[in-house]
Amino acid sequence: MSVTKPIHAAQTGFPVADGCLQVGGIPVTRLAQRVGSTPFYAYDRRLLSERVAQVRTHMPAALELHYSVKANPMPALVQHLAGLVDGLDVASGGELKVALDTGMVPGRISFAGPGKSEAELRQAIAAGACIHAESERELRTVARLGADLGIAPQLVLRINPDFELKGSGMRMGGGAKQFGIDAEEAPRMLALAATLGLDVQGFHIFSGSQSLKADAIIEAQAQTVELALRLAEASSNPVRMLNIGGGFGIPYFPGEARLDLAPIGAALDLLLPRVQSALPQAKVSIELGRYLVGEAGVYVARVVDRKVSRGQVFLVTDGGLHHHLAASGNFGQVIRKNYPVAIGNRMGSGDTEAVSVVGPLCTPLDVLADRMELPRADVGDLVVVFQSGAYGLSASPTAFLGHATPSEVLV
Ligand SMILES: *Cc1c(COP(=O)(O)O)cnc(C)c1O
Repeated sequence: MSVTKPIHAAQTGFPVADGCLQVGGIPVTRLAQRVGSTPFYAYDRRLLSERVAQVRTHMPAALELHYSVKANPMPALVQHLAGLVDGLDVASGGELKVALDTGMVPGRISFAGPGKSEAELRQAIAAGACIHAESERELRTVARLGADLGIAPQLVLRINPDFELKGSGMRMGGGAKQFGIDAEEAPRMLALAATLGLDVQGFHIFSGSQSLKADAIIEAQAQTVELALRLAEASSNPVRMLNIGGGFGIPYFPGEARLDLAPIGAALDLLLPRVQSALPQAKVSIELGRYLVGEAGVYVARVVDRKVSRGQVFLVTDGGLHHHLAASGNFGQVIRKNYPVAIGNRMGSGDTEAVSVVGPLCTPLDVLADRMELPRADVGDLVVVFQSGAYGLSASPTAFLGHATPSEVLV
């Protein structure tokens, strides 16, 4: 059985002092006291700000940066990011409320996602948020609700492209999809929108998620722009908004290399002027979720028991699958790999052993680390799961087995 090697603190972005990991400049042991209970999620403001700044450094100045709230909807974190990005992308009425509460200009909040309810569409129109229509039914409903409310809806068409982001962890465009309007259907929808008296401001073309390959992202962006220019020809109104998607990934597993932003920025430096000359009124944006927040967050659980079963050491913690489904391996549907895990109060200790870190649930799937080399730990020590700032708590089955919901802190 192979054992996952420990990660070095320097790879994580979180500082270490006196063998203790710091989040938000606070040693994780002290942070646990402050929070008052384990487990908890902690997000580091400095790392969030630095990540946005890093993206801005590499991307053309004219490119707008949006945050996809779905990745982490914690209100304090969304508030922090609202002050740093140009827009917020939401995918439900609940996320719309979180976004509006930040004070972000409503026209800079976009609402995409299949199957929006009438209540959600009405809220979005009333608030002045931009609706990304994903079907003919949504177009017709938006027209009717806009007329009822006496408000001209802010509207963009979400397009299901005729290509996909190659090698992405999650395909969300290309082929048959529940997302967006098929690119070949767009001319008909644009004509329908015109007869319904709707002003379509532009297009949203999202081709995939969690890509670590700059080349694949560059290729998808070029195809996205080509498609947008073709769609613009079918549009009677000038294109004012063009969301070219995102898909920037972060490394989760051993051997994965970090995405290189420099070539993506360089390619966009050449691509944007093409858009600007063909569509002079278009604001071009990218939407990033996990890339902005994933590496700025940790999940911290306390060791409550240490057991040896037939020679294998198990650290049993008070946290697990119910709080962090992704780190546990998504209910065993995929070949499970270890997220980066450390003993937060024993960083860099040379006294290591191979252990499995498990949670308190009565299922063998409740695993945070399967045979990983970690500093020798005991009851009371703090297990830290890195890369936990995105798709953590809000993407986990917290009701499963009825344990308390963990706290979240932004520090
Ligand atoms: C989920 C989603 C995103 C964010 O994806 P990340 O992988 O977190 O960057 C962006 N755009 C759309 C349309 C999405 O559905």
